[in-house]
Amino acid sequence: MRTNLFLTLLLVACGPAPDKPVEPMIAFPTEWVDLTHAFDANTIYWPNNPTGFELDTQYNGMTPGGWYYSSNQLSAPEHGGTHMDAPVHFAEQGNTAERVALDRLIGPACVIDVSEEVGEDADHLISVAVVEDWENRHGPIPPNSILLFRTGWDRYYDDRVKCLGTAEHGEAAIPQLHFPGIDPELAQWLVDNRKPRAVGLDTPSLDYGQSTDFRSHRILSAQNIPGFENVANLDRLPPTGAHVVALPMKIKGGTGGPLRIVAALPGS
Ligand SMILES: [Zn+2]
Repeated sequence: MRTNLFLTLLLVACGPAPDKPVEPMIAFPTEWVDLTHAFDANTIYWPNNPTGFELDTQYNGMTPGGWYYSSNQLSAPEHGGTHMDAPVHFAEQGNTAERVALDRLIGPACVIDVSEEVGEDADHLISVAVVEDWENRHGPIPPNSILLFRTGWDRYYDDRVKCLGTAEHGEAAIPQLHFPGIDPELAQWLVDNRKPRAVGLDTPSLDYGQSTDFRSHRILSAQNIPGFENVANLDRLPPTGAHVVALPMKIKGGTGGPLRIVAALPGS
């Protein structure tokens, strides 16, 4: 039996059997990988954000009625932690968060591991050459793939200095940002030649930390391609065959937002 039953609604039609009603059956994958960092007070945000993720207790305890109840209030910038960049983030006519089609957020993944090329180089730009090398081994990236780059940088996610290049806050800290990102030449090559559904990576931004013009963001946004940043656990995905489900908070008019991204492993 083929195993690519990804979210396929199977109607088990057994022919007319009035005494046995037709039972719908939904076949879900059995092996999921969570590609999301949990949000908390240490979640990584751009240095110029005045506040980060805040979770305040509204109530936690026994009620006068005798039952337990708890509820929090949360606030956070849109862009931080594992999150989506909606195209409007860098393209005025691009889709806002709630308008990003589900078709852009769910689909087959190509996972390009560039961690060896990156090593400890916090200013590394992921190049066209490594993608071509990946294609020589795994075949051309099919159109409408969700492209995920693994730099290995998520190993530093809990260390603000190593992850961002600086632990300082404020505008003055921005020139001190150092982490790998996508070479704008690669972004252009991808939109011209591979037409990805979405593009993500395991660093805080599609553009590398030292970028001052955010060209990779602009190139992808101009094609209404959403970005996924600070993606986790990409080492657990095969180069091809996984399916990604990336569902950001549906913020009306949002330029992005917190993202829950998971992947179903092939054959599960
Ligand atoms: Zn962002």
